[in-house]
Amino acid sequence: MIIKCLPTGMFGSNCYVIGENGEGMIIDPGTDGGEIYSVVEENNLKVKYIILTHGHIDHICSVEQVKASTGAPVLVHEKDAEALSDSMLNGSAMFGKSAAFSSAGGFVKDGDILDIGGLKVQIIHTPGHSPGSICIKAENSIFTGDTLFKRSIGRTDLGNGSYEDIMDSIMKKLVALPEDTVVYPGHGEPTNIGSEKKLNPFIKKEYGNNKWYM
Ligand SMILES: [Zn+2]
Ligand SMILES: [Zn+2]
Repeated sequence: MIIKCLPTGMFGSNCYVIGENGEGMIIDPGTDGGEIYSVVEENNLKVKYIILTHGHIDHICSVEQVKASTGAPVLVHEKDAEALSDSMLNGSAMFGKSAAFSSAGGFVKDGDILDIGGLKVQIIHTPGHSPGSICIKAENSIFTGDTLFKRSIGRTDLGNGSYEDIMDSIMKKLVALPEDTVVYPGHGEPTNIGSEKKLNPFIKKEYGNNKWYM
C-alpha cells in the first residue's frame, strides 16, 4: 500500500493519498488541491474515491477542486453529510467566510468495505468529534481524522460534538485494535495504538474509571 501524507494545509490538517495497484483514494482534501493532484499523478493513481473523515472545513476545503481534477465521487457518513452545505456545521462561518460545497456522491457506514486496487478499506463509525466522524482502516494502518491524535483527542465543544461519544468510540473501537496498528491522524504526527494506550492522557483517564479493561 502507498501512503502519502500532505501535511499542514492552511488549517494545519493532514490530507492522505493512499493507493494500491494503480488505484487510489484521497482522504480529507484539506490541503491545496493542486498539490494533492500532483501526488496522485506522481504515483500514477486513478482515484476511485475521495473520502471525508468528517465534515469540518479543515478537512474538506479542496473537495470541489479534487473532485474536478479526478472525477471521483465524494463519500461521507450520512450524519456529517449536511455539513458540506452548512457553514455553521462545517465551521467555515467561524473563520468569517461561509463555505458551502455540493452534496456527497455517496454515504459510508460502519462496517463498509471499499476496494482500492484489491486493498480492503474498512469504515469504522466513531462519533463524538462530530456525529458522522469515521476512521478508515487499511492493513495495519488507520486514518483517525479528528477522533484520535498522538497523545490527544479531537475537541468536542464544536456544534454537535460529544465527549462521552468520542471516548466511547475510542475505547470500544480503536483501543481494541492490535497495538501495532499505525495511527495516521487528521492533525499532527503518526502514532500507534499501543503507545496511545500507554501515554494518551484521555485514554489513561478512562482506564482510571475502571469501566474499561486493558
Ligand atoms: Zn474536525
Ligand atoms: Zn481538523
